Amino acid sequence: MSLVVQKFGGTSVADSEKILSAARKAVRAHQQGHQVIMVVSAMGKNTDMLVQLAGEISEKPPAREMDMLLSTGEQVSVALMAMAIDSLGYQAVSLTGSQIGIQTDSSHTKARIQHISTARIQSLLDQGNIVIAAGFQGIDENLNITTLGRGGSDTTAVALAAVLQAETCEIYTDVDGVYTTDPRILPEARLIGSVNYDEMLELASLGAGVMHSRSIEFGKKFNVAIRVRSSLSDASGSLIIDHAQTRELPVSGAALTRDEARISILDVPDVPGTIYELFMKLAEAKVTVDMIVQNIADDGTADISFTIPRDEADETFDILRPIVQSLGGRMGKTDQEVSKVSVVGMGMATQVGVANRMFRALADANISMQMITTSEIKISALVRRDQALAALRTVHKEFGLDTGVTDTPSFSYEPDPLPQIDAIDVVDRLQKIGMESLMVDDIVLDDSQSRVTLTGVPNEAGVAAAVFERVADEGIFVDMIVQSYADDQHADISFTVPNKQFAASLEVATQIQQEFKCQGLNYKREIAKLTVSGIGLRSHTGVAIGMFKALHDAKINVDMINTSEVRVNVVVDGCEGQAGLECLRNQFTKAMR
Ligand code: ASP
Ligand code: MG
Repeated sequence: MSLVVQKFGGTSVADSEKILSAARKAVRAHQQGHQVIMVVSAMGKNTDMLVQLAGEISEKPPAREMDMLLSTGEQVSVALMAMAIDSLGYQAVSLTGSQIGIQTDSSHTKARIQHISTARIQSLLDQGNIVIAAGFQGIDENLNITTLGRGGSDTTAVALAAVLQAETCEIYTDVDGVYTTDPRILPEARLIGSVNYDEMLELASLGAGVMHSRSIEFGKKFNVAIRVRSSLSDASGSLIIDHAQTRELPVSGAALTRDEARISILDVPDVPGTIYELFMKLAEAKVTVDMIVQNIADDGTADISFTIPRDEADETFDILRPIVQSLGGRMGKTDQEVSKVSVVGMGMATQVGVANRMFRALADANISMQMITTSEIKISALVRRDQALAALRTVHKEFGLDTGVTDTPSFSYEPDPLPQIDAIDVVDRLQKIGMESLMVDDIVLDDSQSRVTLTGVPNEAGVAAAVFERVADEGIFVDMIVQSYADDQHADISFTVPNKQFAASLEVATQIQQEFKCQGLNYKREIAKLTVSGIGLRSHTGVAIGMFKALHDAKINVDMINTSEVRVNVVVDGCEGQAGLECLRNQFTKAMR
């Protein structure tokens, strides 16, 4: 018999009317012959209210007691939901996290799931019950109640769907599904019929607040088909799966991260360990570093810029200043008036000429980009905050997201037979080592590329567009693009291309250098790109640091970096590729699946 998990968020159980309506959805699925598990959040703003109450009593409430308090919200909802099902004439049993046996680590208020027992739920289901599970909570080995972090009920739902091999996990919420961008920001945003896990991970981390990112990581690890849909209608919503239909469009969604700040570190020695030292300190201070770009000057020094949330800018500057000084570098001006615009899509991994379209569209709208980073399925550009909305609208339109076809697959989802078998293995294995452990899929070396860098590029709208249009016109396949901030008038632009197209790329770069009066041009014919890919790379913040440390210990210098939810890439000198690969393999053996 097939099993369906239905999760109802706070707004979907905000009052008795809504609880009854959610109960009717579960009963309907039950009548259709499914076994049904409901995962329920606290009613409405109940969790916020409890947080506020705690704040009125104590400035720093103990984390253990916070969990004790916050878990009550879900306990109220599951009891009421079970009563609702009972009142409709069906059997239901409510269970708390500890009654289910959702075992977590002991990091209160942000615990990670280690193991879930299935026996009790399964037998209740087999007796014909609808099982109502409290979201967001678990229990540690000493029987302390834990919670998974705000929004964590999504993670409970997908994790239960994974261990019980559910056919689908439905997330009922107050929006219709996943949109091409936040419809509250751009009214022309459209519903996306289906989206791939990797795309969704990127979009979620960019602030598409639909789902808890960790729940998508679970979905990907265990191949759970997740459907996000409205609790107010029967519309089919958006499906998050492994193999979203190939779309015509290279881009699936766009996002705006409004309140960013840019920090720049100038003239630090370009030697192994510099990056490691800087980012170690930031990690210790729990600063969440985002776009990291580094460019190498001809004189053996490097400039490193990165973005952070705006409200962490001052603190970050203070942490870094002494370290940078001791390294012989200096702090550049911090810019707190910037925002990040990103586009995400599986399509761009295989299509040429996506980046230049974005850059051209922004240039034509007279929007200048201060920094650029790309990964396989994401391009991000840093722009002035007063141009951020226009920038989002421009790229959203450029990629046809405002009018494009949005495929809406029909409701019944046929899971892939093959990955399904894999998933069982993965569940077994991870049930032993910790379901939310970091999982590294692969560490690979690509030594088929070259790097070209233009330095002192005038920082005006249109230069990046021109560079990558010419490059695309020559049929050159650009992989990584990094534009860093040099000073208020200048930027440095680096990109990587296949060795085979190095000569042609250099020719284009030389023309551009003359035409746009760029100060310098440098390159490396043989580079090695090292990629660690996996699941949880960003939420387990140590991954990038671990890479820097391993490379530092092996005395290997890092030239370029980019990070995404599922991959961290670094570029090193070509002759160090093999050694780099080995040291990374050693670093991550434990996390390899
Ligand atoms: N009630 C919790 C919160 O508000 C968990 C959830 O809703 O997912 O964060
Ligand atoms: Mg939520």
